[in-house]
Amino acid sequence: MEWKIIRIPLKKPFKIALGTIENYEGVVVKICTEEYCGYGEASPSPKIVGDTVDTVVGALKRFKPIVVGSRLEEYGKIMEELNRNLRHNSSAKAAVDFALWDILAQKAGMPVRELLGGKKRRIETSLTVDISSVERSVKHAEELLSQGAKVLKVKIGLNPEEDIERIREIRKITDARIRVDGNQGYSLSQAIKVLNAIDRYEIEFAEQPLPVGHEDELKLLREKSPIPIMADESVHDSRDVLNLIGKVDAINIKLMKSGGIYEALKMASIAQTAGMKIMVGCMIETKIGIAAGTHFALGVGVDYADLDGYWDLKEQPFEGLRYEDGYNYVLDKPGLGVMPLREIF
Ligand SMILES: [Mg+2]
Repeated sequence: MEWKIIRIPLKKPFKIALGTIENYEGVVVKICTEEYCGYGEASPSPKIVGDTVDTVVGALKRFKPIVVGSRLEEYGKIMEELNRNLRHNSSAKAAVDFALWDILAQKAGMPVRELLGGKKRRIETSLTVDISSVERSVKHAEELLSQGAKVLKVKIGLNPEEDIERIREIRKITDARIRVDGNQGYSLSQAIKVLNAIDRYEIEFAEQPLPVGHEDELKLLREKSPIPIMADESVHDSRDVLNLIGKVDAINIKLMKSGGIYEALKMASIAQTAGMKIMVGCMIETKIGIAAGTHFALGVGVDYADLDGYWDLKEQPFEGLRYEDGYNYVLDKPGLGVMPLREIF
């Protein structure tokens, strides 16, 4: 088991209510058996998961003696052991989890999605319009539509009046589905006001309008909002899903928050049982993480996907995913189907 820190500049700074990002910094993990090698990735998010590249590397150092020498057939036991060894640190756990699934599926001779029970090869994904002036948001939306987007995810949460205008202006140029993401930016009264005002523009759902810790207010918002409410930053693991039953309409599962597919499978089961819709989302990630998310989404059969995290990277160091006309396609290869396009290790 080895790992490398990778840094990739973004094509342009990515601005949301939580802050602005200019570079992607992550950790790529490679785990090899005698026959196969699997790849994984950790995309740390200081403000969401609470980790950094340094803490990911620290976690991987602790995980290495657990992983190396374990039997692959004991996948579940390995993941439980990581959880016992170190709390939280979910993106480091996700990196190990992805690499193990990559190897397990290669060994089984099928793509990860198929090993998870999914037959479809493609899933529709939204593309993201970040926050800038209304004029630039419209231009950005136009660009994404010309690249085939069938669903736009528009970031909001910094300025209620401007957000209403942003959605109104984007709706003028397209019939595509629109979902919004507040990234915790609003108070309850602001969220009620904005969601009621933009309902006429046919919004699919609103992600995390309120800050983490205000989950009881999400329930109040849900009662007063004509638009379905989805939790994102408020839901990391299966315990969070249990706590959100009755408070939101849907959850956004991100493998970097859940610590990989192992925990995400439990989250999906709870949500489906409770009648909540599921989206699989992502952080800014290379195609390793996005391929893992896409395989998981296809394997489980979820309602929505927001898997465009590699989109803004200036360089794609991995192959393993194709976007065409609104859909993500995973490659029809055993495992995750990801391969480095340049020397990384
Ligand atoms: Mg979100």
